[in-house]
Amino acid sequence: MAAASSCGGAGCGPHCPPAAVVAEDATAERLGRLSLSRDCGRCGGGAGAVAVAGGVGLCGECFRAHLFGKFKLSVTSNAMVRPTDSVLLAFSGGPASRVALQFIHEMRSKAIESWDASNSQALPVFRVGVAFVDESVLCSKPEQEIDMAIEDIKSIVSSLSVGVKATHIAPLEDVFSPESTDGEGRLREVVGLIDDDTGKEDFLQCLRMLSLQKIALENGYTKIMLGACASAIACHVLSATVKGRGYSLPADVQYVDTRWEIPVVVPLRDCLAQGLSLLCELDSLKTQQHLDRPSNGINRLVASFIERLLEENPSREHTIVRTAQKLKPFSFNKFSADGYHDFLPSRLRPKFQNVDNDESTFSEILCLICGSPFSESELRNMESTKHKAQKKTDLYTAHCCQNCHFQILPSGGNLYEHFFSLLPKFWTGKVDTVSASHSLLRDQIEEYLLEDNDD
Ligand SMILES: [Zn+2]
Ligand SMILES: [Zn+2]
Repeated sequence: MAAASSCGGAGCGPHCPPAAVVAEDATAERLGRLSLSRDCGRCGGGAGAVAVAGGVGLCGECFRAHLFGKFKLSVTSNAMVRPTDSVLLAFSGGPASRVALQFIHEMRSKAIESWDASNSQALPVFRVGVAFVDESVLCSKPEQEIDMAIEDIKSIVSSLSVGVKATHIAPLEDVFSPESTDGEGRLREVVGLIDDDTGKEDFLQCLRMLSLQKIALENGYTKIMLGACASAIACHVLSATVKGRGYSLPADVQYVDTRWEIPVVVPLRDCLAQGLSLLCELDSLKTQQHLDRPSNGINRLVASFIERLLEENPSREHTIVRTAQKLKPFSFNKFSADGYHDFLPSRLRPKFQNVDNDESTFSEILCLICGSPFSESELRNMESTKHKAQKKTDLYTAHCCQNCHFQILPSGGNLYEHFFSLLPKFWTGKVDTVSASHSLLRDQIEEYLLEDNDD
């Protein structure tokens, strides 16, 4: 089946229309609104409201099955969740993460059913936990609204029939603990050092990921699941292009990202935001709307641009994401082929991956702040700077990508030291380790050469 089909290869069978029909009907897809149509393109039924998905009229039931099929396909075909996994779902309470929660919960319920039914009960059933990163310290919302949002999130999670492992409500400033007792002050101070609005926002995005990693590590989760959908990824593609981050872009648009200690998976990558909102409406899935994140700078421009594109023709988001997907992914954008390593604790995995993978897994140098892989010119820059490095701060700046240099590092070079001293050790510690192992290696080589001379 062609990848351009409406079902995204989800296998909706003989009813799946040819691609030409999809293209013709694509203009009919407007904002995912409910529209009335006499019959469903999939089951032939015509009762009740018919939703429009990818140009084909679908009844509510089939629309739901269509989205669930996409989700399940991306989970299974990318080996996102294994029976032994504990999955931490990043939950904002918005429609996308709400649908992700519903679907992963459904997959788990089915797995439990078949576990109960099987005689051997050999394979365990994966577990799911939910995390909400509370950024209220940086927004001007009244406390009451924040409390209401958190209450909503808790009630959504507790409404699920099969319980989740835990709900973690984590204040963003916790990424600075336990090193700092005043996380809030530290967060404000470091964000205050960043002049650029877009840089501030990108930095907060990095902190959010760090916060999720921290929750996962501290609570034994083995995967982090994001609710990022095609619309959000399309925004990212455009803003990354505008920011000149073309080299690292392919890393951010894949289903799997093992750059982090706890790998990140993105099962809704092929679903449009309007479709997800529509499903919440159809199935009366409660969402949280007290807290949203208005964006700034370039990110806001791109978001409003995408919104306008969408009004004209929502399938353009798919086009943007599909185009970006044609870029070559990095080696960290998949789990190892044999799947064996996925059963190892993630911190051990890189050690083993190097043994059998001739693609030299994880050879990329990643930016200290944002995790972007370094381009050729950034690598050359880093090498030459490292040779001249006098202080630790020089080493840290050498490990920042060009974009973080321009948008995140404070403009006066004399503030660098202060800036890096405020960052969570999780980041700077990595560079310390790398440079320590480099100098250890250098010492060993020197020692070896000396011994050689002695002979
Ligand atoms: Zn139907
Ligand atoms: Zn960076």
